[in-house]
Amino acid sequence: MSQTTQKVAIVTGAARGIGGATALRLAQDGYAVAALDLREASCVDTVATITEVGGRALAVGADVSDAEQVQTAVERVATELGAPSVLVNNAGITRDNLLFKMSEQDWDAVMGVHLRGAFLMSKACQSHMTAAGWGRIVNLSSTAALGNRGQVNYSAAKAGLQGFTKTLAIELGKFGVTANAIAPGFIATEMTAKTAERLGMSFDDFKASAAAKIPVARVGAPDDIANAVSFFASEAAGFVSGQVLYVAGGPRT
Ligand code: NAP
Repeated sequence: MSQTTQKVAIVTGAARGIGGATALRLAQDGYAVAALDLREASCVDTVATITEVGGRALAVGADVSDAEQVQTAVERVATELGAPSVLVNNAGITRDNLLFKMSEQDWDAVMGVHLRGAFLMSKACQSHMTAAGWGRIVNLSSTAALGNRGQVNYSAAKAGLQGFTKTLAIELGKFGVTANAIAPGFIATEMTAKTAERLGMSFDDFKASAAAKIPVARVGAPDDIANAVSFFASEAAGFVSGQVLYVAGGPRT
């Protein structure tokens, strides 16, 4: 595909895990991909994997909760790869604790990355999408949006992202831009590995106990989420907007 016609996608938190798999999947779908994470250097592997399969990618370092860094990063993507028309707000952190022990810092940090980060990235990218009359925003929510012990900050942020998504869909639809959210269940990544460590369990035991409660009898892999992102980002999904898709190996309400 020529560089002038190739669509450009930005995936935040693309150094590893769900973001890394999503960046690769979108590159395989034909997008030039900006792999954005806190440190540019941590995206080197993602970019190398994409390049190895013949794709085009750029590593970008930025903190999604910092307005100036976001602005600079999106401008750099537009200049070096092309105007972004797909945005996957995937960057995330956990700072788990029970309410009575949770610090204000841990509350603010989680809100900052998930909610403020998605807001800043979407705001910076929407001008490119509306100018092109075509865009796709995919936000990573979580089954934790339905409530999860020890995650009052994270579940509030992930529920907030669902409202954010629906409002983006309403505001941006007439410009050819859709917005959808994916709410993963248990996905085996560094994030869940760290949770196992915090709970004093081996990652294998943690995965086995999670799988025992999941109807398809396994935990998810990053590719399970990348596949869903691929659909929402596609031309074919143009009439699907403002939706929350639970990708959790079973039903959630
Ligand atoms: P992960 O392996 O921890 O990867 C998250 C990535 O985001 C890391 O590379 C991290 O960089 C980056 N990041 C953190 N803060 C950032 C910031 N301020 N700016 C830019 N990048 C930042 O997580 P994951 O499991 O792949 O999760 C990806 C998304 O899916 C998250 O939004 C998560 O909440 C959501 N999710 C995950 C699961 C699951 O079971 N894994 C379930 C539901 C939802 P550093 O390493 O440098 O901190």
